[in-house]
Amino acid sequence: LLTIDGVWKNFHGHSVLRGVDLEVRPHEVVSLIGASGSGKSTLLRCVNLLETVDDGAIFLDGQEITDPQVDVDGVRKRLGIVFQAFNLFPHMTVLDNITLAPRQVHKVARERAEEQAHELLTRFGLADKARAYPDQLSGGQQQRVAIIRALATQPRLMLLDEVTSALDPELVMEVLGIIRELKESGMTMILTTHEMGFCRDISDTVCFLHGGVLLEKGPADKIFTAPEHPRTREFLRGAL
Ligand code: ATP
Ligand code: MG
Repeated sequence: LLTIDGVWKNFHGHSVLRGVDLEVRPHEVVSLIGASGSGKSTLLRCVNLLETVDDGAIFLDGQEITDPQVDVDGVRKRLGIVFQAFNLFPHMTVLDNITLAPRQVHKVARERAEEQAHELLTRFGLADKARAYPDQLSGGQQQRVAIIRALATQPRLMLLDEVTSALDPELVMEVLGIIRELKESGMTMILTTHEMGFCRDISDTVCFLHGGVLLEKGPADKIFTAPEHPRTREFLRGAL
C-alpha cells in the first residue's frame, strides 16, 4: 500500500532521515519508535507531503507521491493524519469539525456527511457530543473527535503521531481503545508512540529509528523480546 524507498531528509545541512526504506502492506499496523529527535515525526510528515524529501521516493498505491508534479491535495485526500495536539477548530461544533473535509474537499452533500459523522460518533461513544464545542470536551474526547475527523474522509492510510502524549494517563486508555478498534476494522496505520506496552500490543511491525536510520524492523514480539541491534536493546531498556 505504501513504499518508502531510500528516503533522505536534510535540515540545514544535517540529515535527519538517512535512507529510510519501509514497506507497509494493506491492514498492517506499523509503529515507529526511537529516541526524541530520531526522525519519527519527520518521516510521517514526508508521507503526508508536509516535507519534501531530498532523496529517495514514496509510493502510495503504486503512485509516486514524491514526484514534484504530483497533485498534493489528491494525495492528502487519501491520508488521515492526527497529531499530538488536537487540532480541532475551536469555533466549530464537533459535527462541523468532522464534516468540514468531507463536504469541502470531497464534495459530499451535507446530509450524507452528517449521517456518516453521526455513525462514527456513535461507533466511538460520542453520539451525544455532536453539538458540543471542543472546549466542552475532555482532552481524551477531543482527541477521539480528531481521530474521527481524520476517518470521515475514509482514508487509505492513517498516520498517528504521538496521539496520546498530550493526555492525562486516565484519558490515554480511551484513545488507545479507538486505535485498537481501528486496527480490528482493518485500517492500515503508521503510528509513533512512546507507549511501549500499547505499541507491542497493537503493532504488526515495529521500526526502530536511531539518528534518522531505520536500524531494526520486525514483528512486534520479536523486537520486544529479542531485538538484534544493541541500540534497540539499549533504547527498550530505557523505555520499558
Ligand atoms: P520526538 O520523539 O521528540 O517527537 P521525533 O523522532 O519525532 O522526536 P523529529 O521531530 O522527526 O523527531 O525530528 C528529527 C530531527 O529533525 C530533530 O533533530 C529536529 O530538531 C529536526 N527537525 C525537525 N523538523 C525540523 C525543521 N522544520 N527544521 C529544522 N529541523 C527540524
Ligand atoms: Mg515526533
